[in-house]
Amino acid sequence: MNASNKGTKKHAHRADYLLVTCIDFRLIDEVTNFMHHRGLKDKYDELIVTGVSLGIVRHPSWKKAFFSQLALIKKIHKTKTIILLDHRDCGLYKHVFGSRRLRNRIEETKLHHREMLKFKKEILTRCPNLRVELFIMSLDGQVEEIKA
Ligand SMILES: [Zn+2]
Repeated sequence: MNASNKGTKKHAHRADYLLVTCIDFRLIDEVTNFMHHRGLKDKYDELIVTGVSLGIVRHPSWKKAFFSQLALIKKIHKTKTIILLDHRDCGLYKHVFGSRRLRNRIEETKLHHREMLKFKKEILTRCPNLRVELFIMSLDGQVEEIKA
């Protein structure tokens, strides 16, 4: 690295946003595109957790790891907003609720909404100064905001 790189945005070491998204290999590019489309290229941190809210709410060890990391990330990068990005056809949702329930798009949305709200409440109980935004992505990359 040469001296001319000093002072660039890469050295600012702040990220207002923390994206929490699923592991799903089908949506890696779409998730990146979504964040770029929101004007957040190089402006967010990212945690990848299987099933996002559903995974964290139902697995105590994952929850512990998430909040432990969040405390540190907030300290070092001054996080202001958490973006929870679920996706349709999620393997963890199928595993927990069964594929049949998820075939109905309205039912699928309700389940995601319910789990995301549970997780949002937990985040805000522990970190009341954060904002939490909820989204769900379809497999074609289209994203809907879930209004809490
Ligand atoms: Zn998933």
